[in-house]
Amino acid sequence: MDEPIIRKSGAAAGVQPNLTDYEKACAEFSWEAARAELDGLPDGGLNIAYEALDRHVANGRGGKLALRWLGKKGEVRDFTYAELNAAANRFANVLAKTGIEKGDRVYTLAGRVPELYIAALGALKRGAVFSPLFSVFGPEPIRTRINRGEGRALVTTERLYKKKIAPWRSEIPSLDHVFLIDGREADKHEEVIDLQGEMDAASEQFEIAQTGPEDMALLHFTSGTTGRPKGAIHVHEAVVAHHITGKYALDLHKDDVYWCTADPGWVTGTSYGIISPLTNGVTMIVDEADFDAERWYSILRDQNVTVWYTAPTAIRMLMRAGADMIEPGRFDKVRFMASVGEPLNPEAVVWSNEKLGRPFHDNWWQTETGGIMIANFASEDIKPGSMGRPLPGVEAGLVQRGDDGSVREVAEPMKEGELALKSGWPSMFRGYLHEEERYRKNFAGEWYLTGDLAMRDKDGYFWFVGRADDVIKSAGHLIGPFEVESALVEHPAVSEAAVIGVPDPVAGETVKAFVALNPDYEESDALLKDILGHARKRLGPAVAPKEIVFRKSLPRTRSGKIMRRLLKARELGLPEGDISTLESDET
Ligand code: AMP
Repeated sequence: MDEPIIRKSGAAAGVQPNLTDYEKACAEFSWEAARAELDGLPDGGLNIAYEALDRHVANGRGGKLALRWLGKKGEVRDFTYAELNAAANRFANVLAKTGIEKGDRVYTLAGRVPELYIAALGALKRGAVFSPLFSVFGPEPIRTRINRGEGRALVTTERLYKKKIAPWRSEIPSLDHVFLIDGREADKHEEVIDLQGEMDAASEQFEIAQTGPEDMALLHFTSGTTGRPKGAIHVHEAVVAHHITGKYALDLHKDDVYWCTADPGWVTGTSYGIISPLTNGVTMIVDEADFDAERWYSILRDQNVTVWYTAPTAIRMLMRAGADMIEPGRFDKVRFMASVGEPLNPEAVVWSNEKLGRPFHDNWWQTETGGIMIANFASEDIKPGSMGRPLPGVEAGLVQRGDDGSVREVAEPMKEGELALKSGWPSMFRGYLHEEERYRKNFAGEWYLTGDLAMRDKDGYFWFVGRADDVIKSAGHLIGPFEVESALVEHPAVSEAAVIGVPDPVAGETVKAFVALNPDYEESDALLKDILGHARKRLGPAVAPKEIVFRKSLPRTRSGKIMRRLLKARELGLPEGDISTLESDET
């Protein structure tokens, strides 16, 4: 590729990167050595929360600031490692008292508030499985995910409970206990528990569950082209990858002040918004508020952030806000900046290097991989537009699938193939909950097939090409078209629906829906608004379509499958490809 290369010279801000020589680090790496950086449970076994909290307290680092929470209204709450550990212990005791057992699923549905972090770590200490939900989800995605994971306990707020759970509680039969973070002053309902009251009454001592490396720890929901969301299972051993990738790909050093802007409702906000920074012993900043350019720049400056992990949509919003906001000195402390979740356009890398004085380091991973797999490193040159190279210990390749299920490796430089990873890294998902067949379909021999298309250049840098399926990435969030279509056809006027992603300069893609009406309904602006409103109410604004258009009917294959690919090609003026299986088409 002829893209400009951003060359690295020496240590940034006088700090020697953890990974100084990529080839050497890869040659010398072993997962056993990475595991040895952690302590393990005193009686054997492994627990994520122990590595994140107890270990530091046991080793005399309890007084260090672990989490600084910045509230929307300017409030600040600080937790040292010892305080966060004590709070997580209290919550683990609350769970034990309530009858939550090892392996039970504990969900959270909340904004970025300290109680969410405490709940995650406390649940892991109890040996329960932590499953975060995105607070902007509507009731439909929430219900589906709790039911799929047979959630027994939920930590949420009064407002979210009333709006998104209470009306459907009887349809979530497994949900035995709902803890309200702010329930103390609220009307006392029989079916909810005041979290703070329980926490106050609980002990700060807790004997951590004897979990083994293969015990289930995290359940993250992700979307595919077809069917309902899939619950990706991660085990306690994943902490080995969370820890070492934070060290190598995010260059975390123990004196860092680290800010991950991702919401814990998504996998990045858990792996790198809770676990990795804590196992690496840094101070992490959590901001409750939504994106605001001025606020973000102020946080970077006032909190002395040294490592910043964010996403392309946010970076593009900062670019839009203009460089005038960037006062001299605002970025003096920031040593390393990384980005994930969607393609990072080369202009954004070049912009950051020019205007902020540091380049963003793009990295790639997905819910199933549990941790960063491909990255640009602090010590290595960056090719803007490239996702970088595989982490030490990770073997990535490109493959082409044959009709018989076999795969052939693509060895030629800059030739497209499906991005594949050799199985065996610790944070690899261990299955989709209750969906063995769907899980197995992702593997061919020793390769895990990621569903992404990419190319590799002669220097081993990977370049993202696109998704191999119909899944949509909007503002970094993976959206399954089937989930959106299912909500649309629940509207009485809609007979069929198809959903595609259309390019958007800021969000990467936005969701666009095509709907055909039942015979009794007439197309009108009012009806369109009504369907849009219905979708937003059911799915929430992060998932609902931004635009809906009417069609007389939707193009289908002879076997009855809606051809989203064709709708997309027509929408974008691209070649229609093979349409030999097209059955009906009155669009
Ligand atoms: P999720 O499982 O929600 O984290 O989404 C994972 C998907 O996001 C990947 O399979 C890619 O399609 C996309 N993605 C993640 N990181 C990048 C990146 N650096 N460049 C391009 N696409 C990315």
